[in-house]
Amino acid sequence: MGVGGKTIALQLRLLGTATSQGVPVIGCHCATCRSRDPRDKRLRTSAVLSAGTANLNIDAGPDFRTQMLRARVECLDGILLTHEHNDHTAGLDDVRPFCFMQEIDMPVWCLPRVASDLKERFAYTFTNYPGVPRLDVREVAFGDAVPFAGEELRLLRVNHGKLPIVGFRIRDLAYLTDVKTLPAETLEQLTGLKTLVISCLNHQGTHSHLSVEESLGYARQIGAARTVLIHMSHRLGPHAEFQESLPPGIEVGYDGMLLDIP
Ligand SMILES: [Zn+2]
Ligand SMILES: [Zn+2]
Ligand SMILES: [Zn+2]
Repeated sequence: MGVGGKTIALQLRLLGTATSQGVPVIGCHCATCRSRDPRDKRLRTSAVLSAGTANLNIDAGPDFRTQMLRARVECLDGILLTHEHNDHTAGLDDVRPFCFMQEIDMPVWCLPRVASDLKERFAYTFTNYPGVPRLDVREVAFGDAVPFAGEELRLLRVNHGKLPIVGFRIRDLAYLTDVKTLPAETLEQLTGLKTLVISCLNHQGTHSHLSVEESLGYARQIGAARTVLIHMSHRLGPHAEFQESLPPGIEVGYDGMLLDIP
């Protein structure tokens, strides 16, 4: 429910759906990287939650600036960082236009471990040097709620290999990137879910990322009507072919995909 008891229309737009190198990969001539299908042009994984004119970005990777321009996001209420890896944080410097236009320090919600990493990686932003992006880092823990447009994002623990990182649920949609395993308490918090957005790296998986089979296993276990795959490698093959190989209810995400939040 939103302000005054009215339900606000909430949407999640996928701004990037690739793993860390993006698709196409520089110098690669595989069928995916040569594809002319616009859905095979994938920026690094990120998304924006919107409610009217309010926007909350999920991660700020190396493509953040391009993603803001493409999606015409001109006002940002904050950024939720899932974790500290470069493909999720490297674009933070580009929050400057928002800080200048909105005259704010940009709220950035993240785990304490991620906050210390930002203080090293972006040390200059925590100085008084003129023109630096000003970050208002707000440390969070699993189970906390991040407020957004009169609603809340419930933060969930995701295991990215051995690294605990942040996923979230808002209403009946959950967004889980860089997943290897989901602890029992997170699975419990996903009951009654209608839309699941979950990462799916490649056919083999790695020590820190789900394979196709593992992602589909979680999709079945969680049982949402809609499952949308993100954080994909070019090795999964062109979008159309990969989509064809999947069971009903599983959708290959693409940059620009808009999901209504039930
Ligand atoms: Zn390729
Ligand atoms: Zn990662
Ligand atoms: Zn990643």
